[in-house]
Amino acid sequence: MTFEEMGVSPEIQKAIQELGFEKPMPVQEKIIPILLDRNTDIVGLAQTGTGKTAAFGIPIVQQSDVRVKKPQVVILSPTRELCVQISKDLKSYAKYVDGLQILAVYGGASIQPQLAALNDGVQVIVATPGRLLDLIKRKAAKLSSVYRVVLDEADEMLNMGFLDEINEILESIPADRNTLLFSATMPAEIKKIAATYMRNPEEVVIGTRNASAENVKHIVYTVHAKDKYLALKRIADFYPKVYGIVFCRTRIETQEIADKLIQDGYNADSLHGDLSQPVRDSVMQKFRLRNVQLLVATDVAARGLDVNDLTHVIHYSLPDDPEVYTHRSGRTGRIGKAGISIAITHLREKHSIGRIESSINIKFEKARIPTGREICEKQLFNLIDKMENVEIDNTEIDTYLPVIYKKLDWLSKEELIKRFVSLEFNRFLDYYRDADELNEPVEDRKSRRAGRGDDDFGVRGRKMKDFDGKSEQGYTRIFISLGKIDGLVPAALIEHINNNVSGTKVPVGRIDLMSKFSFFEVKSEYAEQVIGSLKGSRFRGNKVDVQRAQGKDAMKSGKSDKGGKSEKGEKSFSKKPDRWSEKPKRRPRR
Ligand code: ADP
Ligand code: MG
Repeated sequence: MTFEEMGVSPEIQKAIQELGFEKPMPVQEKIIPILLDRNTDIVGLAQTGTGKTAAFGIPIVQQSDVRVKKPQVVILSPTRELCVQISKDLKSYAKYVDGLQILAVYGGASIQPQLAALNDGVQVIVATPGRLLDLIKRKAAKLSSVYRVVLDEADEMLNMGFLDEINEILESIPADRNTLLFSATMPAEIKKIAATYMRNPEEVVIGTRNASAENVKHIVYTVHAKDKYLALKRIADFYPKVYGIVFCRTRIETQEIADKLIQDGYNADSLHGDLSQPVRDSVMQKFRLRNVQLLVATDVAARGLDVNDLTHVIHYSLPDDPEVYTHRSGRTGRIGKAGISIAITHLREKHSIGRIESSINIKFEKARIPTGREICEKQLFNLIDKMENVEIDNTEIDTYLPVIYKKLDWLSKEELIKRFVSLEFNRFLDYYRDADELNEPVEDRKSRRAGRGDDDFGVRGRKMKDFDGKSEQGYTRIFISLGKIDGLVPAALIEHINNNVSGTKVPVGRIDLMSKFSFFEVKSEYAEQVIGSLKGSRFRGNKVDVQRAQGKDAMKSGKSDKGGKSEKGEKSFSKKPDRWSEKPKRRPRR
């Protein structure tokens, strides 16, 4: 069916043609003919990006009476951005319709201009619920002539706590009106609104309900909860060309993750409700222009953001509602393009993954967080790619080249390549050289639990000669100048540690008692503190010396004596701003 066949007016056809709408999208094909034909209430269930705005907007533009200078249609929408977007869209459909006034009103902006505009007479109001209610109470918005109400992104309006406002607004609009409700998900509250305020609504479902976009690949990574951020960084490093949204659960988490990413040199920014309007506008603009690669956002803030072609959607936190997962992941893999939806989970979230799989009928592919080596490889080839495609400014560089050629004359082509690549690449290698495995290995956890308990200091069943010079992952091996002849037994050592290290109970791992000295392991993050506190302490009158175990007794060969580079190296990465020589703070666009 064409727009013409559906009965769309010539003026509107002309306008939408200019917008590049050649043929209607499925939701438009279903809804426009209904609305042009009769005033039926409609519940529309469709994901973002399916073309809902034109589906309700075209009939609204076509059916508004420009001679009547009173509000005839009210469109409610959760955020200012969406209000502005919708009113802009409607105005563009109405480009060749004379005299139609469409006004966006929303909170967080001065009310005076909105009052004035309403006073001038508008036919269509696009509003956030809170502001509209305010305007109704001030008797500025007179809704007695409203014949149609649209609730757009209804589920998000409820998430934002607008239920009371919506109810109040619907109460104050003539009951014989026509109501359209659009939502990506159908929680019980939405069904209740539909049952209370709508009359025999026709249900329009686009795609199968709950269906996730077909060309989206779902991947799940499982890590320790504390390693989620490190995992996110590895994913970002593994996909150097990533352009995606990182979904977090709360505003605080969103800000925190975005801050960390920015600090660590990633091209990221945050979008959530605590940010001021101008900041949000600028973040969205930057993301649209791809000046920001990773947008860390809450569900509400990202809803309706009209950005296509995301390469990835990353669920830093899984949503409670599987439908929200569908909605999020539907933002990638649009319009025939493949997309990747990545869930970063910890073990206890296994059931959530199962629930999502069964309720939206998808299958997650279990993947392992890329190792440092794999990431280095990926980055290396990306670097080579970039080098091949770099734009060369001949006029600028030509003047310098003769001198440079001369200086590098002694190097072979192979040597040259090696050096230029290393220049950029060493930093990645440095960072990942000693990076730990992040994947949560189930068996490993069990064996660790078995080998370490309050009644078992790791001595049992493992003799010193079995010791391979490596402490357990995450633990640091420490030398102490006390042995069996000093009366040291595991319990006494633990007691001594706890007596001297104030404030916390230190997790102690394996203890290897010798006759004149001993070794013990503590969780790496406590190592410094333990060494500092125990050095010079007295055990039964003897002065105690402690230090990091050296040589083959070191934690992992060559690691601990370099200042704890393992896990810590990865975490303290932000303190190495020289990783990107051209821009210390921001990762360059790739
Ligand atoms: P939704 O509200 O369902 O999330 P939008 O109404 O914002 O989706 O539409 C998504 C995108 O599709 C917009 O960029 C819009 O301009 C575009 N679009 C809508 N209808 C058509 C059409 N018939 N042909 C081409 N593009 C369209
Ligand atoms: Mg929309």
